[in-house]
Amino acid sequence: MDSAEIRSRWLRFFEERGHTVVPSASLVADDPTLLLVNAGMVPFKPYFLGEVKPPYPRATSVQKCVRTLDIDEVGKTTRHGSFFQMCGNFSFGDYFKERAITLAWELLTTPVADGGYGLEPEKLWITVYLDDDEAESIWRDKIGVPAERIQRLGKKDNFWSMGVPGPCGPCSEINYDRGPEYGEEGGPAVNGERYLEIWNLVFMQFVRGEGIGKDDFEILGDLPAKSVDTGLGLERLATILQGVDNLYEIDTSRMILDRAAELTGHTYGGDHKSDVSLRVIADHVRTAVMLIGDGVVPGNEGRGYVLRRMMRRAIRNMRLLGAQGPTLSELVATTIDAMGPQYPELVTDAKRIDSIAVAEEARFLDKIVTGTSILDNEIGKAKAAGAALLPGAAAFALHDTHGFPIDLTLEMAAEQGLEVDEDGFRRLMAEQKQRAKEDARAKKHGHADVSAYREVADTAGATVFTGYTLNEGEAT
Ligand code: ATP
Ligand code: MG
Ligand code: MG
Ligand code: MG
Repeated sequence: MDSAEIRSRWLRFFEERGHTVVPSASLVADDPTLLLVNAGMVPFKPYFLGEVKPPYPRATSVQKCVRTLDIDEVGKTTRHGSFFQMCGNFSFGDYFKERAITLAWELLTTPVADGGYGLEPEKLWITVYLDDDEAESIWRDKIGVPAERIQRLGKKDNFWSMGVPGPCGPCSEINYDRGPEYGEEGGPAVNGERYLEIWNLVFMQFVRGEGIGKDDFEILGDLPAKSVDTGLGLERLATILQGVDNLYEIDTSRMILDRAAELTGHTYGGDHKSDVSLRVIADHVRTAVMLIGDGVVPGNEGRGYVLRRMMRRAIRNMRLLGAQGPTLSELVATTIDAMGPQYPELVTDAKRIDSIAVAEEARFLDKIVTGTSILDNEIGKAKAAGAALLPGAAAFALHDTHGFPIDLTLEMAAEQGLEVDEDGFRRLMAEQKQRAKEDARAKKHGHADVSAYREVADTAGATVFTGYTLNEGEAT
């Protein structure tokens, strides 16, 4: 079943059961606490928080999501994409646990010929929150899942909350057993790669009070109206339904991956290292296209920096695989072919998306050529001196004079077995910032030229360490 079909089946199933179909919101969140939309419930937050009266009691959507927290997992685990689509169904004070569980089970296990996804019930494992006897008994007694395939998990995985005071409640998750070739048995509580988490059902039922951190807080009482928020990863379900190993190999991503392999003369499945690179490329180019499509432009802060980082990592991995010149334009075109059937606006917008990608690539390739040879030289010097650390001053000079990003320095040094003196680098960055501030102050009073610093801010930016995962809240 291809991704477009998974998506339309989802929406049809819930629409037929009284849910209003709501189109995906932009990735650029209409929410000051969030950099990018990272869960299906984000656009519905005001309804769950009781700030706005929901115009419908039930809704369903397939929401575009970006999780910057997952970027480092990409290509290494089989199940984390930086961009993914979260299929959701939502009840705003309408149905609760029993209906949510029944609907989920029905959709997953109804045969394909009858409009469902046709998963074998024996492969599904359930987790519930530690003390959620109610959910457990629905799964066991109403649905008929054997007790040994229901496990209890703690707050980290199976309890959801948002804000203080705010709604919170237990989750119940559905996981798919991919079989012994994915590792030890024992259920999702012990093995997240073999027992692939596909669907999270969140039951909002309590009011959260103060507490320490995410995991230790008071429950103030019951919510006046109980709600449901669910999220199923479309790409994860596609991984199962298409019988592939990981989500970079599903129909849509595979096209990009194959194009990258073709452009660099590699065969996917050949060796582990180049496979990881190809997966990173497929993932990152897709995320970049979706971000540009939603109006993000490359920059040094916030969303712009997320985008820049995605593109640069993709470009860099293409170079690692042997690409010499620019390749993004080709990869962007393939991505638009892959995602166009689900997002026709990408096709209409193809020219603009391409030109932003091409311009960013040209800028970066310029920097890479100079930066790489300087960095190689520095690494050579450090190694010859028997040092385990690349001096912070070298990383700073690369960044400051050549616009060579620190994350790239870290990555490239690591590839050659060297760490970077990050403290030293950061100290020099802070000093420079201070100097710039003093100069700006002086300029205000009539002297000093700060144009040099402006250029530095343009090419790199001190937000490298914070801007990246900034404000990524917990959601679904
Ligand atoms: P995991 O434990 O695998 O990291 P999660 O618990 O962080 O997943 P949720 O926040 O519960 O995920 O999100 C709901 C659903 O969205 C998940 O069950 C999964 O199917 C999907 N999902 C979450 N993160 C990703 C991702 N990075 N790539 C693809 N799908 C994802
Ligand atoms: Mg996660
Ligand atoms: Mg999880
Ligand atoms: Mg989860």
